Amino acid sequence: MGGRISKKVVRPAVKAKPAKAAPSKVVYAFGGGKADGNAGMKELLGGKGANLAEMAGLGLPVPPGFTISTAVCTYYYAHGRKYPPALRADVERHLQQVEYSVGKRFGDPANPLLVSVRSGARASMPGMMDTILNLGLNDETVRGLIALTGNPRFAYDSYRRFVSMYGDVVLGLKPQSKDESDPFEEILERKKHARGVSLDTELTADDLRELVAEFKTAIKQRLGIDFPDDPQEQLWGAVGAVFGSWHNDRAILYRKLNGIPDAWGTAVNVQAMVFGNMGEDCGTGVAFTRDPSSGENVFYGEFLMNAQGEDVVAGTRTPLPMRQLEATNPVVYEQLMTIRRTLERHYRDMMDIEFTIQQGVLYMLQCRVGKRTGVAAVRNAVEMVDERLITWKDAILRVDPEQLNQVLRPTFIPADKERAIEERRLLAKGLNAGPGAATGRIYFNAEDAEAAAARGEAVILVRIETSPDDIRGMVAAQGILTARGGMTSHAALVARQMGKVCVAGCEPLRIDYRARTLRIDGRDDALREGDDLSIDGTTGEVFRGRIDTQPSEVVRVLIDRTLDAQSAPGYQRYARLMAWADKVRTLRVRANADQPDQSSAAVAFGAEGIGLCRTEHMFFGEDKIGPMREMILAESLEARRAALAKLLPLQRADFAGIFRAMAGKPVTIRTLDPPLHEFLPHETVDQQALADILGMSLSRVQERVAALHEFNPMLGFRGCRLGIIFPEITEMQVRAIFEAAATVQKEGIAVRPEVMIPLVGHVKELDLQTVIVRRVAAEVAKESGVKLAYGVGTMIEVPRGCLTADQIAHTAEFFSFGTNDLTQTALGVSRDDAGRFLVPYVGEFEIYARDPFQSIDEDGVGALIRIAVERGRTTRPGLKIGICGEHGGDPSSVVFCHRVGLDYVSCSPYRVPIARLAAAHAALTS
Ligand code: PEP
Ligand code: MG
Repeated sequence: MGGRISKKVVRPAVKAKPAKAAPSKVVYAFGGGKADGNAGMKELLGGKGANLAEMAGLGLPVPPGFTISTAVCTYYYAHGRKYPPALRADVERHLQQVEYSVGKRFGDPANPLLVSVRSGARASMPGMMDTILNLGLNDETVRGLIALTGNPRFAYDSYRRFVSMYGDVVLGLKPQSKDESDPFEEILERKKHARGVSLDTELTADDLRELVAEFKTAIKQRLGIDFPDDPQEQLWGAVGAVFGSWHNDRAILYRKLNGIPDAWGTAVNVQAMVFGNMGEDCGTGVAFTRDPSSGENVFYGEFLMNAQGEDVVAGTRTPLPMRQLEATNPVVYEQLMTIRRTLERHYRDMMDIEFTIQQGVLYMLQCRVGKRTGVAAVRNAVEMVDERLITWKDAILRVDPEQLNQVLRPTFIPADKERAIEERRLLAKGLNAGPGAATGRIYFNAEDAEAAAARGEAVILVRIETSPDDIRGMVAAQGILTARGGMTSHAALVARQMGKVCVAGCEPLRIDYRARTLRIDGRDDALREGDDLSIDGTTGEVFRGRIDTQPSEVVRVLIDRTLDAQSAPGYQRYARLMAWADKVRTLRVRANADQPDQSSAAVAFGAEGIGLCRTEHMFFGEDKIGPMREMILAESLEARRAALAKLLPLQRADFAGIFRAMAGKPVTIRTLDPPLHEFLPHETVDQQALADILGMSLSRVQERVAALHEFNPMLGFRGCRLGIIFPEITEMQVRAIFEAAATVQKEGIAVRPEVMIPLVGHVKELDLQTVIVRRVAAEVAKESGVKLAYGVGTMIEVPRGCLTADQIAHTAEFFSFGTNDLTQTALGVSRDDAGRFLVPYVGEFEIYARDPFQSIDEDGVGALIRIAVERGRTTRPGLKIGICGEHGGDPSSVVFCHRVGLDYVSCSPYRVPIARLAAAHAALTS
C-alpha cells in the first residue's frame, strides 16, 4: 500500500487551470435599447449579464452597463489572480459609454455616476456570491448627489449602505462567530437606540452621515485599513471581490451540491445605479410571472416603497404583496403586467424579475427563468401547453424528474392538525414558502442542525432570517422556519430549490440565538433547542409538538383511493404530464416489489411489470421465519425437505397475490439470495426459543449459528451458490412460483413469470439452476394441466458475469443488472461499510462526482455494463436487458440505461413516476 497523500496535495484551495491566452473581447455593453450580447451567451456573460442584454435588446427599460465576461474569471484564476492586460482600458471605455448615456461622470463631485457591481455565473447561484451597490460614493460625490436630488437623507442612506456593503464584501469586516451579529448592524442598532427610534427610516440625514464615519472608523480600527475614497480604486476592489467570491466557501459548497463545475467562473456586471430609496415615489420589488409555489398563473411577488433591492431579499423589512402595487402606483403596475406578458412570450417560461421604481419610472434590473416547486413545475408545464406557449415535449423537459418527489409529498393528517389547533398548539402563521409538511426538533444554527441530523434526528432549522452561510443547516433540515423575510427571501428561494418545507417571514417569532429559545408574541410558550416543532409549508402554519403526516393528492387518488381523480386538479395535471412522458419514452419501467400491496402501488404509479421480487423479504414474516430457520438448521436432507414443505404453501400464496396484482404484466422473481445466517437469531434468548421449537439443545443451535458465520458474507455463501449446494431450496421456490402461476391462470388472470438466478459469474452456475427451473416447471405443468410461457434469466452483478456475458447468454433469456452488487464488486467497496469514506470521497476529495451506490459510476461500473450488453446480445440478438439495483430510480442513471440500450429499469414503487419522466428526458435528449 502506498503512503497517505495529504489533502493539500489532492485538493488545492484554488485549483490551477491550464494557462490560457488572454481572450480577445472581454467586456460587453448593454442598455439604451441595444446590447452586445443576448440570452444565448450565458457561458460568457453569466445568466444575469446575458438576460440583461436580452432585456435591453427587447427594448425593456434596463439601466445601461457592461458585463466583464467569465473568460476573465478563468484567466484571473489561471494567472495568479491577475487580469488580462487589455481589461483596464476596455472597462474604462465602457464606463465612458455608460457615463455618456446617463449624462453623469464616475467620481464627478458635481454630477456623480454611481454603479452596482454584481456577480453572475452561468447557472444561478442565489446569494452565493457578492454584490456591491452605490459604488462611486465618497465625501465629495455624496455632496453632488445631495445637490442633484435635493435629498441629503437619501444620499447619506446610500452612502452608509455602500460603506457597510463594501466593508463587508470587499474589505472583509464580518461577524467572527456563529453567535456574533454583523458589526455594521451593531453600530446601526446602537445608533437607533441612541436616537430612540426603531426603524432605519426614522434616522435623519445627520444620523446617517455619522454612521458613515462610524462605519469607516470601525473598519480602520478592526482591519487597520482606510476606506478607499477613489471611485476607481473602489471599482477594481469590487471587481476583484466578485471574482474572489467565486471561491468563497458557500459558493464552493453550492456548486458541489448543484453539480456546477468550478471551471465555469463568474461574470461581473457593472451597471448604472437606479434608486428605489429616493422617496415615497420610489421602490423596488422581486416578482415571478406565475406563483412559484403553487404554479398558479398569477403575477406574484413583493415590493417595498422607498427601499433598495437588498431590503426585499435580505428580509430585514417584510415586503408587500404585488397586487398592492396596483393601488400604490397603477401606471407602473400596468407596465409590469405588460412586461410580464412580453417576457413569458419571449422566453416561453415562468420568469423571475427584479425591478426598481425611481421617482415613478420603472427599471428592470434582472430577469431569469424562475425557480419553482415541483408542484409549480408540473402546473406551469401543463398549463403552458394549453396556452400554446410550449409543446408537450417541452413540457416534459420542464420538470426535473426529482421534482416529482414534491408532487408525491406528504401533508399533515387533517385530524391531527385539527387536534393540534384545538390544543392551542398553533403558534403562529408565516409565509407558505416551500410546500409539504415537516416535523422535527428545533435547532437554531446550521452547525447544530447539521450535527443533530448526523445523529439521525429530524431537524427544523429556526433562524431569524437565513443567509448563504446557513446552507449546510438547510441541507440537513427537514424544514426551515424564519422570522423575517418574504417569499423571495433567501430562505424561501433556497428551500424551494432544494425541495425543502419552508415557512418564512413568521413575524411573531422571537428568537434568541444565545439563549437558544423561541418565544411567540402574545403567548407564553417558550421552546428550546431540541423541542419538537411542526411546520406546514403549504399554509405557513407553525405548531408546537409533532403532527403526523399523510400522503399527497396523487398518492390519495392512485394508491389510497381516498380521493376522486375528478376533484383533484393537481393529480390531473400530474397524469397528463406522465401520459406525455409515456408517449415518448422507449425505456420501460418496472418496480422492485415483493408484496401484493407494493405491486398494486407500483402499477398505480405506472409500473409495467415487476423487475425484482426479492423472495427472501417474504421469509421475514412471523409465519415464515420459523420454518425458514428450521430449514437452515436442518441436519439432514429429509429434515430440510420437511421444513421446505412448510414454506411451500406460504410462498405460493405470496406469489399468487403478486400475480393477481400484476394481472398479466411480467413478474421477475429471484431465487433466494442472502447469506443464510441473516435469518438466524443471534441473541441467546431467541436462540433458546428456537432450540425449544426445534427440539434441539441451545448449544447445538449455537454451534450451527457459529458454523454459518462468514468473514465476508457478501462474497460468501449466497446467491446462486445456495441453490447449487442446496438444490431443494430452488426446487421449492420454483414449485411455489409455478403452482401459484397455474392457480392464478386458472382463475382467468394472465401470468408471465420470469425466474431470475442471482449472483451468477459463470455460465455453469446458471446452467445448473436452469435445469432445476425447467424440470420443476414441466412437473407442475403436468400436474396442473396448465401450460405457461415463462422465462429464465439471470442477475448480472459480478464483474465475471459481465465479462462472460456472451457465454451466459447461451442459457439466459434475459439479464438484469444488479448494480448494487455490481458496484460493490467492481469497486471492491462494501455496500454496507462504505459510508465512512464514501462521504468524504464524494464531498471532499471529489473522487466520485456522486455516491456510486446512488448514481451509476459510468466510467467503471458503466463500462462493465456496456461490455455485458454488447457480449450478451452478440450471442442472443434482442436479449431483453434491465436493471434492478437502486440506480434504476436515479434519473441520471436512467439516462445512462437508455443510452446503453437497456429495455427497462426497475426501481422502488414511489420512484416509478420519477423513472418514467427520466426515461422520457432520455428519449428526448439522447
Ligand atoms: C443488486 O445487487 O443490485 C440487487 C438488486 O440485488 P440486492 O440488492 O438484493 O443484492
Ligand atoms: Mg444483488
